[in-house]
Amino acid sequence: MKIEKDKVVSVHYTGKFPESDEIFDTSIEREPMEFLVGHQNMIQGFEQELLGAEKGDNREFTLLPEQAYGHRNEDAIQEVPKEQFPTDLEVGMMFQAQSDQGPMQFSIYEILEDTVKIDFNHPMAGKTLKFNVEVISIRDASEEEISHGHHH
Ligand code: ZN
Repeated sequence: MKIEKDKVVSVHYTGKFPESDEIFDTSIEREPMEFLVGHQNMIQGFEQELLGAEKGDNREFTLLPEQAYGHRNEDAIQEVPKEQFPTDLEVGMMFQAQSDQGPMQFSIYEILEDTVKIDFNHPMAGKTLKFNVEVISIRDASEEEISHGHHH
């Protein structure tokens, strides 16, 4: 069985930043990651690179920002009053804001005298990512899983 749309796949993966070889995430020592292929559960390039792979295969690939979390958008940086934040504020801290579309994550981008610049870009936006993936299992998705668009 090969990886294609409407298969439920479980993989072990390790993600690194190619410049530094720093690991930003890995499933090793956790449960393998499971997902339904072809329903936008994963970043697009990740699925694309796994299509056609079989159980036991190892794949290594590098994704440019446009295949991963997109490019950074400087319009996603906003300046807000500092008094809304705790006094031990540091650059890089993550917070959550409530919006019409539900909760949105942002990080502290810059701390100024009376204001703070906050950044709504995805933390991985603008980054090139290198993955090493091992296919652990592949199975057909049930009709219910396909209609829900995620695995059960
Ligand atoms: Zn469901």
